[in-house]
Amino acid sequence: MLKSIPLSTPVFDGNENSFLLKALESNQISTAGKFISDFEEEIKKRTGGFEVAVTNSGTSAIHLALRLLGIGPGDEVLCQSFTFCASANPILYLGAQPVFIDSEPTTWNICPEILEEAILDRLRKGKKPKAIIVVDLFGMPAKFKQINDISAKYEIPVVEDAAEALGSSIDGIACGTHGQYGIFSFNGNKIITTGSGGALISQDLNAMDRAKYLSVQARENYKYYLHKEVGYNYRMNNVSAGIGLAQILDLDKKISLRRKKFENYQNLFRDIKGVSTVLELDGFFSNRWLSTFIVSNSETGLSIEELRLALLKENIETRYLWNPLHLQPVFKDVPFYGGGSSEKLFSEGICLPSSENLSYEDQVRIVDIIKNNLIRK
Ligand SMILES: *Cc1c(COP(=O)(O)O)cnc(C)c1O
Repeated sequence: MLKSIPLSTPVFDGNENSFLLKALESNQISTAGKFISDFEEEIKKRTGGFEVAVTNSGTSAIHLALRLLGIGPGDEVLCQSFTFCASANPILYLGAQPVFIDSEPTTWNICPEILEEAILDRLRKGKKPKAIIVVDLFGMPAKFKQINDISAKYEIPVVEDAAEALGSSIDGIACGTHGQYGIFSFNGNKIITTGSGGALISQDLNAMDRAKYLSVQARENYKYYLHKEVGYNYRMNNVSAGIGLAQILDLDKKISLRRKKFENYQNLFRDIKGVSTVLELDGFFSNRWLSTFIVSNSETGLSIEELRLALLKENIETRYLWNPLHLQPVFKDVPFYGGGSSEKLFSEGICLPSSENLSYEDQVRIVDIIKNNLIRK
């Protein structure tokens, strides 16, 4: 049996065990405890002093952000189509209407030109969108200079879904901090993990107080249980936060290892025609959460499915890029503005194994299998 190579696994080689034990010994395993505030403090340091509320998932952080923006039934929210469904599902939780926007080919994220066209068209149709959800896919920052100009021009706030982009930045400005709200995910496969978890960040102190209040069932600070509005059970627990604290203290190491895996692939693919990838624009820094490549169908004659199956036969896990949301059955009635970019990326893109502990020998093995399939074609 060939050694299996997973797409992306977490690595716990810091203080995870000792912090976990401390959380258990202190009997603080729920939504009170020191690791929660310590973890929030570390995220704050990494995001230039933004206020932080840790949550039980990235999805719940997006839900809170939209709720704080006052999104409700009938409102329209613009959202990048090329992303995981969690970017858009909270729009539906609030009874609002998503409107999907295509990506552009240099960052794979929301296309500023199409975004502006969409805003103008929605305005013409009589409704002003209430928010824009922008994603930093696979750790690559979106074109925030252009996006924020549009956001300011039309006075529509941005939520930055940086679920995959903790530690990424543009000109040193951290991803997560480019919009009015930012979110991170610490799900099991992200660059750092708390098992499941997330964070909401913002510069707005009052809003963040309210986020924390809403995330504990909107419980009033009172002598008995008192609730004046509907909240959520969304706060992170102290056990998860302990793991998260240990993980984030190692974030720089994790990023440099992930970037190294990407660089290795790039070098190994250097002389191969038809294989390309997404590069950092001037001033952009990607955490390279997953190493993603495009295998041009017209140049190689090879489909992503053939490649995926060839690697799977050798016990190597790969994955398609995100299937654009405008192609998902669940969103079939959602308006979409675009020009085929994300569809092309989906049909030719592949995520290769990217764990921080992936060995160079395994990377060579993966690329050799791909090369052999290309030669056979
Ligand atoms: C993982 C992810 C989320 C959701 O995070 P969860 O913690 O799994 O709820 C949201 N958006 C993107 C782009 C993601 O990759």
